[in-house]
Amino acid sequence: MVAFALLLTSGVQHPVRLTASATALVLGGLILATQFFGRSRRSDGRRRLAWLLFTGCVLIGALSNLLSVDTGRTIRAAANLALLVALGVGVMGFAVFPLARRRGTDLLRMVLDGIVIGGCFLLFGSSVFFPALLNAEPSAPAPTVLLIPVFDVVIATFATLLVVRSSPAERPVLALTAVGFCGYAVSDFAYAAIVAQGRLFQFGSLVDLGWITGYVLVALAFANPGTRVASSDAPSVEVEVSAVPGTVVVVTLFLVAATLTASVALSGRLGLPYAVVWLAVLLAMVARQIALIVDNETLRRTLERRVLDRNRSLRQVTQQSDLLVNSVGDGIYGVDETGLVTFVNPAAAQALGCTARELIGRPAHAVFHGNRPDGTPYPVESCYITEAIRDAVVTNAEEDTYLRADGREIPVEVTATPLLEAGRAPLGAVVVFRDVTQRREVDRLKSEFVSMVSHELRTPLTAIRGSLGLVSGGALGPLTPPATRMVDIALSSTDRLTRLINDILDIERMESGVIPLDIADHTAQSLVDAAVAQLLVLAGEARVKVVTDVQGRVRTDADRAVQTLINVVGNAIKFSNPGGTVLVVARQRGAFVTFDVADRGRGIPEDKLDQIFARFEQVDSSDSREKGGSGLGLAISRSIVERLGGRISAVNNAGGGSTFTFTLPATPGGADEPADPGAAPGHVLAEPGHVLAPPEPELAEPEPELAEPDPGPAEPAHHDSLGLADRSGP
Ligand code: ADP
Repeated sequence: MVAFALLLTSGVQHPVRLTASATALVLGGLILATQFFGRSRRSDGRRRLAWLLFTGCVLIGALSNLLSVDTGRTIRAAANLALLVALGVGVMGFAVFPLARRRGTDLLRMVLDGIVIGGCFLLFGSSVFFPALLNAEPSAPAPTVLLIPVFDVVIATFATLLVVRSSPAERPVLALTAVGFCGYAVSDFAYAAIVAQGRLFQFGSLVDLGWITGYVLVALAFANPGTRVASSDAPSVEVEVSAVPGTVVVVTLFLVAATLTASVALSGRLGLPYAVVWLAVLLAMVARQIALIVDNETLRRTLERRVLDRNRSLRQVTQQSDLLVNSVGDGIYGVDETGLVTFVNPAAAQALGCTARELIGRPAHAVFHGNRPDGTPYPVESCYITEAIRDAVVTNAEEDTYLRADGREIPVEVTATPLLEAGRAPLGAVVVFRDVTQRREVDRLKSEFVSMVSHELRTPLTAIRGSLGLVSGGALGPLTPPATRMVDIALSSTDRLTRLINDILDIERMESGVIPLDIADHTAQSLVDAAVAQLLVLAGEARVKVVTDVQGRVRTDADRAVQTLINVVGNAIKFSNPGGTVLVVARQRGAFVTFDVADRGRGIPEDKLDQIFARFEQVDSSDSREKGGSGLGLAISRSIVERLGGRISAVNNAGGGSTFTFTLPATPGGADEPADPGAAPGHVLAEPGHVLAPPEPELAEPEPELAEPDPGPAEPAHHDSLGLADRSGP
């Protein structure tokens, strides 16, 4: 473009400039026509039609340029006509280009914008560039020539409207196209002005620069690979286009036009046609602003009405949920992420013997939780509210005690649900609790009844067991083989019945709290060793090896803790496949030691993971027949663990089998003590034929299915890195 400007202004001979200009224009027109056509092939709907019309526009324009080279009058008239047709087709192209869909007043505003923009262009063209044109003697130019600038103004107006109303993604390419057309229009304007003055137009002057600039800019719009124009009507129609660019452009143009008009008026050159155009621009501008104000006002009212409607329905929803929370019989309170009470429903306030106002803002854990049976306060880390917020899981406590304002304790059943918002840490929790005093009383009576019956059953059972033992031992003389078989069956059934009755008595005593606890400090290793020692026979029969990796010290009742370990590890052995491995890992985490017992057995259906801790619950009814047991072991374990101040849960491992996890309070300060000498990592305790054997080479490297190879004894293989599931449940 710069080279061309230099060429056109240089002293090079006119015929050379003419040929160069005309060739560039015709070639430019053809190249652009190819690009527009290519674009139309890649578009559909109205967009395709628009690009096709642009193709036609530049082709006819190029033809007109070609004809303009000739100086004959008839050919010149044909060239003018061709230019007019080209511009008309261009106008149609802009007219069909799809814009964001408009509402009624918006459409009116667009028309008014068009008048303001078009009028301003007309005023610029005539006052700045070619004053002769607008105030020209009516006799001078032919009507076709006068129409050319009008069409140019329309094209420039459409182009500007299209740019300000297109979506931001389309704007760069459309802006370049539009400015290109504007450049084109300027040259047309000059051409018309020259012809209107009765002079002969010839290529090779600066006038050509507008056309050439037009071609170059439009070609640039297409050459830039970053500019992407939507190929179908749909996307840009849906895009909400801001009214701001339109207003900025219109007001700027208007202000410039006003300044120009003032200077024209001051210089005394203000003719009638100019004044008429200015008046039209002024009126359109005023009307546009009024339309804008009306539109804004309507929008404001609609918005206000909508906000009011929304508020009303919100209030209704709030009232409904308030009603619900206030009428429900269960106590409900909310806590924020730090555990401070944020709301309390009337049932909760009544159950706790105070008003909601007294509770709000106080720490829920400290206010509601009674002490442990041994009088020590419950640690806040093991509080289900803390867990719900920290781990973002729903937590339950069936055996909790709440402290009323009058100091009385009430047994409660509690569920804490974290308040979750997508992608954020829990905002707090909602806690629902129910006073279970009456249910506990019924349970107590039932337990008393069961234990009385069990006691009554145990006495005759002992006599039966003794007699059968004597008979089987031959005290009454030798037995025939069938009689021996019968007596053996009777003996084993009596043993099972005795175990069942013992279990029932155990659980009743544990839950009624009559068993005194002997709390003392122990190493986790000693407890695990004691439990595994009792399971050696079972492990041998099942051909399952037990691998332990235990650290930490616990403050607990050793007998009860061992009983729990026997239940859990015993189950893991029972439900492992022959040749399998059970892994027992203990680690101190905060104020607790966590025991994980993992197996690679059949696993537990997800919906039973919680249920199996209830009494007489078994995954399969055939379990009691095939594996022995009554479905009481885990219920007893849970009673024990909760009484000892811990929690127990089960999850399935990603690669099969399940992991049972329970916690026991750690010895305060015990984490720093050196590990038990016997607690070597990967310590193999039970294996068929091996009792407390040191790790054999084969065993030192845990089974691939259960564990990855341990890099060395210095770093005990923690179960998380062994391919077993992390604890994810409450
Ligand atoms: P039981 O005396 O029947 O073993 P428990 O209360 O100890 O009673 O266990 C209840 C049920 O939970 C078992 O019958 C079994 O179905 C299931 N279960 C317990 N531990 C495991 C385990 N490690 N793998 C698979 N299922 C298990």
